[in-house]
Amino acid sequence: MFDKILIANRGEIACRIIQTAQRLGVSTVAVYADADAGAKHVALADEAVHIGGSAPHDSYLRGDVLIAAAKATGATAIHPGYGFLSENPGFVDAVERAGLVFIGPSAQAIRAMGLKDAAKRLMEAAGVPVVPGYLGESQDSAHLAAEAEKITYPLLIKAVAGGGGKGMRKVTHPKDFADALISARNEAMGAFGNDAVLLEKYVEKPRHIEVQIFGDGVDAVHLFERDCSLQRRHQKVIEEAPAPDMPPAMRLAMGDAAVRAARAIGYKGAGTVEFIADASAGLHPDRFWFMEMNTRLQVEHPVTEAITGVDLVEWQLRVASGEALPLRQDDLHINGHAFEARLYAEDVPAGFLPATGRLDHLAFPANVRIDSGVRSGDSISPWYDPMIAKIIVHGPTRAVALAQLSRALAQTQVAGTVTNLAFLGVLARNPRFCQGDVDTGLIERDLAALTHIPESSLARRALAVLVAANVPMVAQAGFSLWAPLRRRVLLAHQGDIITAVVEIFSPDRAQVTLGTKTLTATRGEKGWQVEGASFVPVTVVAGKVFVFAPEGQFAFTTVDPLARVFVGEAAGNAALASMPGLVKALFVGPGQPVLAGDRLAVLEAMKMEHSLTAARDGIVAEVLVQVGDQVEAGAALIVLEQEV
Ligand code: ADP
Ligand code: ADP
Ligand code: MG
Repeated sequence: MFDKILIANRGEIACRIIQTAQRLGVSTVAVYADADAGAKHVALADEAVHIGGSAPHDSYLRGDVLIAAAKATGATAIHPGYGFLSENPGFVDAVERAGLVFIGPSAQAIRAMGLKDAAKRLMEAAGVPVVPGYLGESQDSAHLAAEAEKITYPLLIKAVAGGGGKGMRKVTHPKDFADALISARNEAMGAFGNDAVLLEKYVEKPRHIEVQIFGDGVDAVHLFERDCSLQRRHQKVIEEAPAPDMPPAMRLAMGDAAVRAARAIGYKGAGTVEFIADASAGLHPDRFWFMEMNTRLQVEHPVTEAITGVDLVEWQLRVASGEALPLRQDDLHINGHAFEARLYAEDVPAGFLPATGRLDHLAFPANVRIDSGVRSGDSISPWYDPMIAKIIVHGPTRAVALAQLSRALAQTQVAGTVTNLAFLGVLARNPRFCQGDVDTGLIERDLAALTHIPESSLARRALAVLVAANVPMVAQAGFSLWAPLRRRVLLAHQGDIITAVVEIFSPDRAQVTLGTKTLTATRGEKGWQVEGASFVPVTVVAGKVFVFAPEGQFAFTTVDPLARVFVGEAAGNAALASMPGLVKALFVGPGQPVLAGDRLAVLEAMKMEHSLTAARDGIVAEVLVQVGDQVEAGAALIVLEQEV
């Protein structure tokens, strides 16, 4: 076994590798770019080397700098993780030239599988079924169009150098072929510097089923399949192992085909053979085809670890250091069922836009495997993949594991950035998914229901108000049954300003009036609970109140008390910024009469535009900001003349 290895990666995968290395008594060297100076993987490793600027090209993609860091620290092997340089044969060659071990397959195996067309040819020769199509011997547009007619529509245009769903277009009608070809080529050129494409028959009711393989250069085994059919734009969202309703004969056939693929290239290390299956009439052993092979550890490898009990990173280290495969095929068995959900900082209603921000608060349930590269207080930076964590559950049956997933998602708390947590929660309860009736189109078909953003109920708002009111824990002067302590609370929330009055009868009993509704609440051991509603946890960080309810996580920003001056006793004298943002437009000036509901200004916040409207009829007294100003939540933007 190695004494010391360098991990040429960051985030959750770097942390994941460090943990296994430590268990095996192997010292670890982390590397970090400027943006990651305080990152979790740096803190976990035994030592860390700064490798350059935040952009991947200035750091994590600089093979020479990584190799020099390994040399300087006395590491004898490099683990590439996934992404970055993990499938770069030039890097493997350079590592070996430097006298170091690359923890992964040979450069030759990566080259053989690097281009989809060459990989498909190789697999065909090894007797592995491949998706019917045209492998792109000629790249002439007219010739490709003619080949498309032969394949018949619908079909897929795929970049031969593709990955991560890029350079891929589905074409349903011949008239759209020419345009789709141009856009696929452009995207492929931009992403991979190679615009060659191949054509593939589009498989109906497609299920993405992949087989984990492991080789030692002499022999190879498979560790069963993962179903990654829950995808959005060809990106995996929730993965599971084993595949639901997998016929035993098909499992055998797929495992065999995958091991044949590995043997055909003398494969060493962890790899994944991806297949597409036609599930239009259930799964059948003669209806799956090879798509591509990923010559690295895969993001979703933990579900395989959960059902087989194998630590794949341990196997990677042992095989790379010269050991033979730790187990034979007959020793490997499936135990129960596992799911992984990918938690991302992203703005789901805005079309799953990647988001950034400081994670003011991050908490996960116990008894669940969490692979994460960030901690409370860390930031999701714009430089890298906005993944927060992978949430992995394992149970005796699919139904039990899925219930655990739902529960784990409901108990996960993230504050400080928008996330896809609510989306994952709804997806985990989707009836078709629960039945195991999955295909790659499921998410897109149910998108409206899955991305519906829950509204906060009155009870959740009242809870936030109570927490913001900061009710003293012990009775103070001022409490009496006849004259309860009154507090006025202003909170910015979902583009609105909530004005509430809290009446405090005792340290553990209060009522909240929101508009015309009054709710009572009591305070117990765990905190406030609003009458008629379940208990839900609340966290306060830096002037913000976060309510972690099962139906959704809601953020409330306490409004600057100074802004109350403008609101005055009769609310509605001022238009306040509902959240921190940028003033995009102003529609009124001083002296101008306005009617209730008139648009006064537009604020851009969280990548969305919010209109601020007049709360009542009146005359504009003052405009306190200019277009382009950055404003804090609760800041007064426009003030109306006092009502007479
Ligand atoms: P797959 O599971 O087939 O690799 P993914 O969506 O997981 O598909 O990954 C697509 C590509 O992006 C892969 O090259 C993967 O290595 C890379 N990638 C995915 N997630 C991350 C991440 N969190 N950090 C770095 N690279 C990533
Ligand atoms: P990438 O390298 O980008 O991961 P893949 O070839 O693995 O590209 O395809 C990505 C996804 O596209 C698959 O997981 C599957 O959902 C879909 N897909 C690929 N090929 C087909 C096909 N022939 N028919 C239907 N869907 C396909
Ligand atoms: Mg793929």
